[in-house]
Amino acid sequence: MGVEGIAAARRLLVALDFDGTVAPLVDDPSTSRATPDAAAAIARLRALPATWVAFVSGRPLDALVQLTESGPDALLVGSHGVEVSIRGELAPVELNDDERARMARLEAALTELVTAVPRARLETKPVGYGVHTRLVTDTERVPPLQQAAREAADMVGGFTTRLGKDVIEFSVRDVTKGDGVRMLRELLAAEEGGPVAVLYAGDDVTDEDAFAVLGAGDLGVKVGAGETRATERVADVEAFAGLLHRLASAREASVAHH
Ligand SMILES: [Mg+2]
Repeated sequence: MGVEGIAAARRLLVALDFDGTVAPLVDDPSTSRATPDAAAAIARLRALPATWVAFVSGRPLDALVQLTESGPDALLVGSHGVEVSIRGELAPVELNDDERARMARLEAALTELVTAVPRARLETKPVGYGVHTRLVTDTERVPPLQQAAREAADMVGGFTTRLGKDVIEFSVRDVTKGDGVRMLRELLAAEEGGPVAVLYAGDDVTDEDAFAVLGAGDLGVKVGAGETRATERVADVEAFAGLLHRLASAREASVAHH
């Protein structure tokens, strides 16, 4: 499926990584913005019927809202798939029965461990738990607490562990940009009552997870060098803006025929 082919899709989701895809990489990430050319192409696409533009980024959702200058109708996936915002509504993270059961078992085990260590705190997250130890004064108790928490998670099984500063986190779901893209597609398909084709573009390793969820009727575009699953490649941000304009032109023509 090439650009002209996907432009003819009945319903089209254009899901875009931000940094390095529509916005050049800059030294101060807070100043990064989409190029005027990319922004113009995105505006053309957004003006078309049955066409949606979403941003899928590793950035936290609140930063992504600022950087993309998103309005209330935005479709955004932040934190590599953990945070999904649909037109200003934070989509609830839906756990399946198995995940819920494993969450409950881990919560019971961690609650017991945390209660036994003064000033340790258990944080409940949408897809996991954090054991916080910043306020624990008897610091000798921290390593054994973290070790016991790891063992509890291993016992329940299926948790991803991330050790941070004064916190150890367990996630029941190893969420990726691919999960974010899949969720956006499913939500739009349910709303619109039919299948939605996806064009996904990105420049980084984490974008490969999104390319991996694309099917035969979709199109993956890799921006820049590096190994990729995507079937289409452009050299840089500027060339990708050109591709978005080609997509917009082809889709405008296709819509005019229907
Ligand atoms: Mg990027």
